[in-house]
Formats: sequence, C-alpha cells, structure tokens
Amino acid sequence: MVLNIYQKKRNFNKTPEPKGKIKVKGLKKAIFVVQEHWASHHHFDFRLEIDGVLKSWAIPKNLPQKPREKRLAVQVEDHPLEYGSFEGKIPEGQYGAGKVKIWDKGEVTFKRLEKNLLEFKLEGEKLSGNFTLLKPEKFEEKNWLLIRNL
Ligand code: MN
Repeated sequence: MVLNIYQKKRNFNKTPEPKGKIKVKGLKKAIFVVQEHWASHHHFDFRLEIDGVLKSWAIPKNLPQKPREKRLAVQVEDHPLEYGSFEGKIPEGQYGAGKVKIWDKGEVTFKRLEKNLLEFKLEGEKLSGNFTLLKPEKFEEKNWLLIRNL
C-alpha cells in the first residue's frame, strides 16, 4: 500500500499526475465468519480470510451492527481457513474450552488492506455493510477497533 502516501500528498483534481490504482491482494471476494464462543468469558470471534488464513479477533461484547458503533477487537492468532466452518464443543482442559457456534458468515470485499487499517464490505446475514478495523496507535498491542461505518 505504498501509494497511500503518494496519493495523500496530491490533489488529483488539480494535478495532472496519475493517481495510480491501489492494488489490493484481497480485492477478490474472500470469506468472513463470526463464531460465538462460550469460553471462560463469552465472546465472539471475528475472522477474515487474508492471504490464505483467517485473521482473527476476539470481540468481548457483541458486534457493531448500527452505523458508527464500535467495539474493541483483540487480535488473536491466525486460524486455518477450515476453522470457518467449525462448530462444536472444545473439551474441558483444552485451549478455549467451551461451545463454538457460527453466528454469521458470508463474503468480504476489501477496499483497503494495510498493516493497521482494514476497510471492507461484509455480505452476511447479520452483518452487512461497510466496516473498518483499525489499530489506534495509543492502543495496546493486539487491541483494535471494529467500526460499523455509515
Ligand atoms: Mn474464541
């Protein structure tokens, strides 16, 4: 996403320089899934297919469904793509023990895919519309915000 700096410095209505297209690897449709997880603390796991894995965030409260709502999203380890269809009970004594149920799933189309800023459209049954996931500089490592855009 090196072109962002180039583009931010220029007003392409006024300069004849080329704007350049931002090529996003994940511009093709990919999958997203939200799993409800009754672990020691009930939470939702929000997962996006990026570069062949499910990038994952744990959302302690619930999902932002109304415009402008935002939720803390704590990044966790990448999960395999196959995890997107997992439902079941993780046994006692195992990591994340408790019931897992798919809460929503569908397609994601990325508009922006940067290190600390993702913008995308979700087409699921419960989540549908434009969202932003960003990591504010002031936040602790792993802590992101998931925002439902207007
Ligand atoms: Mn979980």
